[in-house]
Amino acid sequence: MTLRAGIAILPPCSATDTGIEETGWGIDFDQRLALLQAHLERCRLCGNLCDADRIEGTSAICGAGPKPVVTSVRLDSSKSHPLGGSLPVGTIGFLRCGLDCVYCADPKPSDLPSEEALQVDHVRLADEILRLQEAGAAIVRFQAPTVHLPTLVPALHLARMRGLRSPVAYGSSAFETVEALRLLDGLVDVYFPTLKYGSEQAARVYSGVVDYVHTSRLAVKEMFRQVGPASRGSRGGLRRGLVVRHTPIPAGMAGTVQVLTWIARNLPSDTPVCLSQSYRPVHQVAAGLFPEIARRVSQEEHDYFLSAARQLGLSNAFPSDCD
Ligand code: SF4
Repeated sequence: MTLRAGIAILPPCSATDTGIEETGWGIDFDQRLALLQAHLERCRLCGNLCDADRIEGTSAICGAGPKPVVTSVRLDSSKSHPLGGSLPVGTIGFLRCGLDCVYCADPKPSDLPSEEALQVDHVRLADEILRLQEAGAAIVRFQAPTVHLPTLVPALHLARMRGLRSPVAYGSSAFETVEALRLLDGLVDVYFPTLKYGSEQAARVYSGVVDYVHTSRLAVKEMFRQVGPASRGSRGGLRRGLVVRHTPIPAGMAGTVQVLTWIARNLPSDTPVCLSQSYRPVHQVAAGLFPEIARRVSQEEHDYFLSAARQLGLSNAFPSDCD
């Protein structure tokens, strides 16, 4: 399933289009649109708080403009996934992120033939969400959506009005501001954040961000407030709730034990915790700039972190090679 080029950019739909008025936080749809427009003009969606004018195209740390670039739309049904269980998971991936990870394996702007051709508006994004549902996705998830909320929020409203029934999962690096997450309240069924670091120093060195640990912990608490504990259907697919992901890097340099300790102390002990085995020494790490993490994480290390999670009382921690 691929996107076509040449997408018309339309103005956002209004509350009249969607019929959705109020949320648990009392932010109606028009207010959300106004707040999202304000972020396009002076963006504080992520913890970088860089105040960029994304319409004028100035100084966004993440490099994002007003429109998202979709890098992949795919349906995964070949193996079990923490979100879908044995059911197919539809994924929409975006370009641009507020973090600049030295081991990032995601596509870069230079990898794309034409960014412009892959830009979407909210109508086109709603189309893609519904196409995944029609193709059999038991859950539709977004990868790296944080900087694209000005398009994602109206797209989700529109998709709901046009018949979206599959749960929506929001997967990010947990670097959203709480104010940004509140604009999603009522639109997301499942949050799947990656708590990348338990050490501010590691976040600075390996992802180029400050205050990551503090920001991400506030974000995960807000996510849990919105969706609560995880609940699954009869075939293992998530219907609602929070699943936390963490990807250890070599020698515990991400602060893995600190991450697990925080989860154990601040979330229910049966919170699903996906310990990903997906770390690869790619990008700048492959160029030899960070020799301390220039290898795969050993099986002994993975076993140690899983054992630490269990000792901390996290009864639903599990290893996974899924991203
Ligand atoms: S998403 Fe973050 S990095 Fe990107 S413009 Fe907004 S505040 Fe800046």
